[in-house]
Amino acid sequence: MSKLLSYDNGISDTPLLGITIPEQLRRTSQQYPDAEALVVPYQNYRATYKEFWAQIEEVAKGLLAYGVKKGDRVGIWSPNRYEWVLVQFATARVGAILVNVNPAYKAAELKYALRHSEISLLIMSKGFRKTNYVDILGEVRAACIRLKHIVIMEHDWKSLLQAGQKISSEQLAEREQSLQFDDPINIQYTSGTTGFPKGATLSHHNILNNGYFIGERLKYTSSDRVCIPVPLYHCFGMVLANLACITHGSCMILSGEAFVPETVLKTVQDEKCTSLYGVPLMFIAALNDPSFNNYDYSSLRTGIMAGATCPESTMRAVREKMNMKEVGICYGMTETSPVSTQTFVDDNEYRRCATVGKVHPHLEIKIIDPETGCIVPRGQRGEFCTRGYSVMLKYWNNPEATTSVIDEGRWMHTGDLAEMDDDGYVRIVGRIKDLIIRGGENISPFEIEEYLHQHDDIKDVQVIGVPSDRYGEEVMAWIMPQEGANITEEKLVNYCKGQIATFKIPKYWKFVSEFPTTVTGKVRKVEMREIAAKELGLEPRK
Ligand code: AMP
Repeated sequence: MSKLLSYDNGISDTPLLGITIPEQLRRTSQQYPDAEALVVPYQNYRATYKEFWAQIEEVAKGLLAYGVKKGDRVGIWSPNRYEWVLVQFATARVGAILVNVNPAYKAAELKYALRHSEISLLIMSKGFRKTNYVDILGEVRAACIRLKHIVIMEHDWKSLLQAGQKISSEQLAEREQSLQFDDPINIQYTSGTTGFPKGATLSHHNILNNGYFIGERLKYTSSDRVCIPVPLYHCFGMVLANLACITHGSCMILSGEAFVPETVLKTVQDEKCTSLYGVPLMFIAALNDPSFNNYDYSSLRTGIMAGATCPESTMRAVREKMNMKEVGICYGMTETSPVSTQTFVDDNEYRRCATVGKVHPHLEIKIIDPETGCIVPRGQRGEFCTRGYSVMLKYWNNPEATTSVIDEGRWMHTGDLAEMDDDGYVRIVGRIKDLIIRGGENISPFEIEEYLHQHDDIKDVQVIGVPSDRYGEEVMAWIMPQEGANITEEKLVNYCKGQIATFKIPKYWKFVSEFPTTVTGKVRKVEMREIAAKELGLEPRK
């Protein structure tokens, strides 16, 4: 075994950007005024950097007119739309903290996010797919006393812009001058390792630099056109895509409200995209779509696959069948802005397909024995930790949770198991955290357990992830019913509908009188997973 330790840092001649997000965007807009910045074909929307900057100014003034102060929380609850992107940069321009609300959220989750981060202005669309957001908000509004203003994109957008007309450019400039790059600018709710969702709080410096170095490693220029089917509410959309683009004068192209394989393929062709993003599941769906052979992918050069383990065969297929010769893998988590490691466009096939690449510039990474905290030798597996500019400021309003993941040396402990080879390339080999990743969506078992616990007929409940060919993992609930209770799978599914996001509703249910436990009474989820996989005839997760 190697004597080298599993530690690496990103030496770089390229300095960090020591400016705020709006300052960066101003510079890019001046440098590439006529390059396209944002294109959303399904909304018939196109804007050059010059136009994009001017529209952001209008929205930013609207926010000031609505009384948004520096540090106020502004929520955004919507699928991918051009307004989302304008709000991302307008909030940064007035120093408000943008709170990303997952478009799949239902009443219980929305109430939690609105109350926890004390959102005072919520910008939302009227709905998504079959979900009516206005009705859901109506259910929880009374419980959210800090919520003062609501802007529904389809109805109130013009009013927001009109309100902004009474704000002068000097007033906006004054606000901009008061901003610092270490100010918090974004809260993203993550499922974390345990407990309720936690609000990872990120600064301009965190996400602007991460986006910049992602784009650098993909060799982005103002000629690149990035197809974005991944959600904007997650770092994958708003950082890996939007911030990588605006730091390079590249174009952001939203393929639709949400991921639809054929629309993505058509957008790549029609918009001559050079780069395409997705979680592995999206690429698998696109490659297997019946329309796949109808479209031309010759404009593609690169792209990113990330969010969950990327199968080598899928990486090879996108390279060969979609012309993505320089496709890469990123690894990271929301709490680290998110990317810590990334492959290089000229890496050999093995490294580009089977590893998550090397440490990002200016960051430090190490792999430790989770029991002792000591750095393990190269080649030995342990917990992946990251330190540097990318580590979040904190979990919003939750100092205990923050200190449980960021230690005194400012290392973020990821809960992921990894190995580093002698050249510094990292492979993710598993997880020590109790987290389910279903098709790229992180799900906290605890959150579902807490919700089901409120059901009168349930004595106890445990939630686990079971293997799935399609999604990587599916959710399964083991229910211990109250004595004499008459509960069924159907009743429980109905109990969850409309309250928790559809992707969190367990696919499998098992009714038991006890759980497998250790001698100390701790529930053995590992054994539950094995039993479930066997009973369902599924391969246990590696
Ligand atoms: P999120 O905070 O939603 O971005 O999820 C972060 C988690 O997704 C990480 O802690 C990993 O467990 C997982 N993840 C992200 N990227 C990768 C990757 N390339 N390979 C394997 N797992 C990944």
